[in-house]
Amino acid sequence: MLPVVALVGRPNVGKSTLFNRLTRTRDALVADFPGLTRDRKYGQANYEGMQFIVVDTGGISGDEQGIDAEMAQQSLLAVEEADLVLFLLDARTGITAADQGIARHLRLQNKPVHIVANKVDGIDGDSESAEFYALALGEVHQIAAAHGRGISQLLQNLLYPL
Ligand code: GDP
Ligand code: MG
Repeated sequence: MLPVVALVGRPNVGKSTLFNRLTRTRDALVADFPGLTRDRKYGQANYEGMQFIVVDTGGISGDEQGIDAEMAQQSLLAVEEADLVLFLLDARTGITAADQGIARHLRLQNKPVHIVANKVDGIDGDSESAEFYALALGEVHQIAAAHGRGISQLLQNLLYPL
């Protein structure tokens, strides 16, 4: 069995961008329209020799209704079936109320969760992502999914101990 890695986070943090880079497809919907991916989506990743299943999700925000509630449910199911959870945040916007809600969900799960600060291209990643330590979910990893930066190091650090 390949390890299962779930990508979770509120809309627009870059989950589908990372999914597409890991699976080298354009199948997941990447757009400037937040929340377009409304369901779990599975792909097989073979990234620099590291093989795993990656799950893209529509996002969870903590207080949802209607379609958002469905998306939240899908995200929580994805977390349940994952061996490893990557909680993506946007280093450019900092912590939002939605991020806080997701962190609250994730702290209750008995799963390895890692914070991934995305979009550190062109900014001071260290200072912009430092506040994510306050979410109390451990180490903060920095990547730029759109540019492939930090992904190899992230995966090597997290996948080999599994
Ligand atoms: P999702 O809603 O979490 O799946 O987010 P998307 O993957 O659809 O990305 C949302 C927006 O963020 C898109 O406009 C992406 O091009 C942009 N984005 C994703 N990754 C990066 C990154 O590493 N750097 C920058 N600057 N923008 C990014
Ligand atoms: Mg998406």
